[in-house]
Amino acid sequence: MLNSTDIFVIGGGPAGLAAAIAARQQGFRVMVADGAKPGIDKACGEALMPDAVTALKKLGVALPAADFYPLRGVRFLSSGLSAEAVFPPDSAGQSLRRTALHRIMVERAAAVGVDLLWQSVVKGISGDGVRVGDRNIRASWIIGADGASSRVRRWAGLEAYSRTKLRYAFRRHYLVAPWTDRMEIYWGKRSQAYATAVSHEQVCVAVASCDSELRLEESLPEFPQLNSRLRGAQATSAERGAVSANCKLKRVWKKNVALIGDASGTVDAITGEGLGLAFSQAVALANCLKAGTLAGYQTAHRRLALRPSVMARLMLTLDGRPVFQQRTLRVFQRRPEIFRRLLALHVGRLSPIRLAADGLTLGWGLLTA
Ligand SMILES: Cc1cc2nc3c(=O)[nH]c(=O)nc-3n(C[C@H](O)[C@H](O)[C@H](O)COP(=O)(O)OP(=O)(O)OC[C@H]3O[C@@H](n4cnc5c(N)ncnc54)[C@H](O)[C@@H]3O)c2cc1C
Repeated sequence: MLNSTDIFVIGGGPAGLAAAIAARQQGFRVMVADGAKPGIDKACGEALMPDAVTALKKLGVALPAADFYPLRGVRFLSSGLSAEAVFPPDSAGQSLRRTALHRIMVERAAAVGVDLLWQSVVKGISGDGVRVGDRNIRASWIIGADGASSRVRRWAGLEAYSRTKLRYAFRRHYLVAPWTDRMEIYWGKRSQAYATAVSHEQVCVAVASCDSELRLEESLPEFPQLNSRLRGAQATSAERGAVSANCKLKRVWKKNVALIGDASGTVDAITGEGLGLAFSQAVALANCLKAGTLAGYQTAHRRLALRPSVMARLMLTLDGRPVFQQRTLRVFQRRPEIFRRLLALHVGRLSPIRLAADGLTLGWGLLTA
């Protein structure tokens, strides 16, 4: 193993691998360490929105057709009502198991020449490098990609943050033929369920709520349509949990340390945008490193996070408000173009200004529904 590198990335999840690939594409020597080994799994809705697919392509990662299920839009369901919108023309999402995404990204990182250290926990950082196991490795730049409860963030003194309320999410996979290529969001009284096909025979189901005690199987009766789809289907994975929130850091870099992905702040799971955000941050960070200064990273990071965090807040206004959910769905049924344009905005294909008129129409519709 080499004792020095240009860039050391702590955490080899999707954000760390994306950061490593982007930096390698700029010509840096890059090393990544992760305490786990591939393919790393995690509680996730497993949807890549169209903007995430585009960002992934910039990293030279094109998913083989056999590895993903196409994702063409979003459907909201609440108390027998449903409304749906498709993604803008020429854009599609893709959904796949986290383990498959991880394997594909590891292959790409290895192919571009990233040094990958698995089952290697980073125990600390200093001004000129990192401590991995019992070794010190010198690095000019350190990237913290060690997830939502990042220790790098604490080591670097970047802990100051603001956060919306915490939500608790659980996910599981079921062996069942997909019934749709839309990502379904079921709005319940206490929670939301998300169903996304991740292959021709498997659907990923996640449930999120503010109740830390609520488990997935226990919450399914709140969603009769989804429950009946899953009746008799064999569960193919164990239930996995995670917390979810909009969390914004005051600063995402200091001296020679930059944070990326969930370590640098999170957007609520409801957006399905965490992965795409990390991939776009990776490209922005690599550009800053190439320029020799992290000064521009803060601005780029803030700009990238703005849209998903605004959309998360907007969507979460429906959380726990059944009457409001039904009114919104009725407006979307009557005026499907409003939902379509909101979705286009969500995936970065529409300017917020264009939406202002729709916002007024939606507001009027909600008052009169
Ligand atoms: C319920 C739920 C559903 C979601 N659904 C979606 C979705 O559908 N689409 C989407 O785009 N996003 C979704 N997200 C968000 C997405 O999962 C995250 O944004 C994404 O996993 C962040 O990746 P990351 O690499 O930053 O962090 P992680 O995936 O958490 O990876 C961090 C890595 O760092 C390693 N690590 C930690 N500490 C150390 C250390 N000291 N030394 C070495 N290694 C270390 C860990 O082993 C891990 O592999 C969802 C999130 C939740 C909670």
